[in-house]
Amino acid sequence: MKDRVLIGELGGHVGEKVTICGWVEVRRDQGKMVFFDFRDRSGKVQGVVLPKHEEALEKAKEIRNEFVVQIEGSVNKRPEKNVNPDLQNGDIELEITDIKVLNVSETPPFDITSDTSGIDENVRLQYRYLDLRSERMQKNMRVRSEFVRRCREYLFGKDFVEIETPLLTESTPEGSRDFVVPSRLNPGKFYALPQSPQQYKQLLMTAGFERYFQIARAVRDEDLRADRGFEHTQVDLEMSFADMETVMQTVEEMITTTVEAMGYTIREKPFPRISYKEAVEKYGADKFDMRTEEEKTKGVLAYAWVVNFPFFEKTDDGKWTFTHNPFSMPITEHEEWLLKGENIENILTTQYDIVCNGYESGGGSIRTHRPDILEATYKIMGFSKEEMHERVGHMLDAFKYGTPPHGGIALGVERNIMNLTGESYLREVQAFPMTRGGQTAVMKAPKALEKKQLDELGIEIKKK
Ligand code: ASP
Repeated sequence: MKDRVLIGELGGHVGEKVTICGWVEVRRDQGKMVFFDFRDRSGKVQGVVLPKHEEALEKAKEIRNEFVVQIEGSVNKRPEKNVNPDLQNGDIELEITDIKVLNVSETPPFDITSDTSGIDENVRLQYRYLDLRSERMQKNMRVRSEFVRRCREYLFGKDFVEIETPLLTESTPEGSRDFVVPSRLNPGKFYALPQSPQQYKQLLMTAGFERYFQIARAVRDEDLRADRGFEHTQVDLEMSFADMETVMQTVEEMITTTVEAMGYTIREKPFPRISYKEAVEKYGADKFDMRTEEEKTKGVLAYAWVVNFPFFEKTDDGKWTFTHNPFSMPITEHEEWLLKGENIENILTTQYDIVCNGYESGGGSIRTHRPDILEATYKIMGFSKEEMHERVGHMLDAFKYGTPPHGGIALGVERNIMNLTGESYLREVQAFPMTRGGQTAVMKAPKALEKKQLDELGIEIKKK
């Protein structure tokens, strides 16, 4: 809008007549005068309609909270006794001369002028667009945006290429249940939504990009928990001609550069490294919180690397399965064991997990770029030659054509933002998360399809 001044910049316009646009956060009607707090993306300011501005005063009486308004007024210094140094714009006040209502608003179903974390989750998510207006949610989303932006900038500075991989893809052996999408053109067949871009990013290494990244969605049909939703976002990257040290150093520098530029303090640099075995002995788990109580209140970030994970573990039916990633390399010293299928319980993988303040905030590994190693891994897991070709034949094929040695990592954006904002629930750092029951925010999915859609897909719903 013409000549609009942002509320956050009003301090530079003292003594001037300005126009602001935004929402009415609060209206306090004192009869002869009406006070307002206005809000836009840059902050809040107090305004007042004095008795002498009769027309504005009349309009002010009609206005309710959350109306969208365009205000004209003069920016005045507050008298000394009314200055509030703890408030943004606490030393100024807008003397309102004209009010234009751009849109009206019903009374919001819950108070959005304070922290909404105590409000019923279903109500918050039904009206998420109002919930997101609250100061804490605005901050969480902005911290998230800045974190991702700074990671991106760091990676561009290091010659990474941002490449998108498909959303409709093949069901992959990453370990969780897939979300599947029926194919209209191939009735009875299904795509899967990606649990991670793992295989495609490795194929981009075969393709010669050397350094790839993506702010990637990953979708997994897992039980919902405080730090886990069906969908999450990863800073996903992969590097060619890189060993563990190269990837770990790159990621450590990316995180350090990013969070320090955002004003956070890191407990220990370089990040301490601990083996899986030591972590379990010392903390009872492979994710842990090293902070003192004082560091917790100060929001210090305690990063650590966990390395030397076992490659395989036993399944309930006595077979071997991978602990983290079937595409990983074993550590060099254990390559022979893997190739021969010996000493399986002692084979260590090149996996490195990054832990911060009690959360596993990322993980990756050096990958196999050799068909014999991938075949040996699948053989240990009980796959016949035929079965492994069905599963990962395309990877075995790609590895025949000069795939460079490579490795990478994925950082969970939400878990990192939970640490930066001090939130304990993933949904506090996602714009439109699901309810605990798996219902989408605002919109009504999952829902039944119309018969016509089902017919087109060749799908019949079984009566329970
Ligand atoms: N694909 C892995 C995951 O999503 C991360 C990685 O190893 O890069 O957990």
